[in-house]
Amino acid sequence: MNCLICQAKALTPSIDFQALITLKSNPSYLCLTCKNTFIKIGADHCPRCYKSGEKEICQDCQEWERKGIIINHQAIFKYNGSMQQFFSRYKFMGDYQLHQVFKSYFKFKKEFTIVPIPLSPERYQVRGFNQVAAFMEKLPLQHLLTKKESQPQSSLTREERLTHTNPFQIKENSSIPEKIIVVDDIYTTGATLVHACKTLKEAGCNTVKTFSLCR
Ligand SMILES: [Zn+2]
Ligand SMILES: [Zn+2]
Repeated sequence: MNCLICQAKALTPSIDFQALITLKSNPSYLCLTCKNTFIKIGADHCPRCYKSGEKEICQDCQEWERKGIIINHQAIFKYNGSMQQFFSRYKFMGDYQLHQVFKSYFKFKKEFTIVPIPLSPERYQVRGFNQVAAFMEKLPLQHLLTKKESQPQSSLTREERLTHTNPFQIKENSSIPEKIIVVDDIYTTGATLVHACKTLKEAGCNTVKTFSLCR
């Protein structure tokens, strides 16, 4: 099998051997060169939102707290240049098979119901798949939220994102579980996940945590 990012010739036997001795059941989808460009968030991170390089509660989270919101988030990777390229190819060029690369990082405690951030119907039409749900295709997901079309977040300034009205609604006839983990691909300002949490809490959910692959 070739690297899913650079198409480098069949992944070398040494990598497969390494996978064997570390008992990783997941096959490698990347060559080592590509793999090494993705950087995990280290021990120094904001305890609330996982922003890298912070030792205490970060400015963003303090700002949320002033609005009455306590962030309870976890993330795995830094959103660096390689990650931006990855998501540009995965989301905007629609390279669906790339979901394989990071799917093993989506693992959650059984007591939490997993709710992926939805796309608006218009965006789903264009992309053809929900890139968040695709990472978790083997997990039991509950699509409790629907999203109205709005401007793409990336075209908005930080201020606009924060003041933007909540695009989420509860899907009709849903019953709301006690504990939910809302999952997104990238945490930027946190506004998307804050809106999703607010919607679920107003619908009666007691405990809502959030997760994203990147922060
Ligand atoms: Zn590669
Ligand atoms: Zn923070």
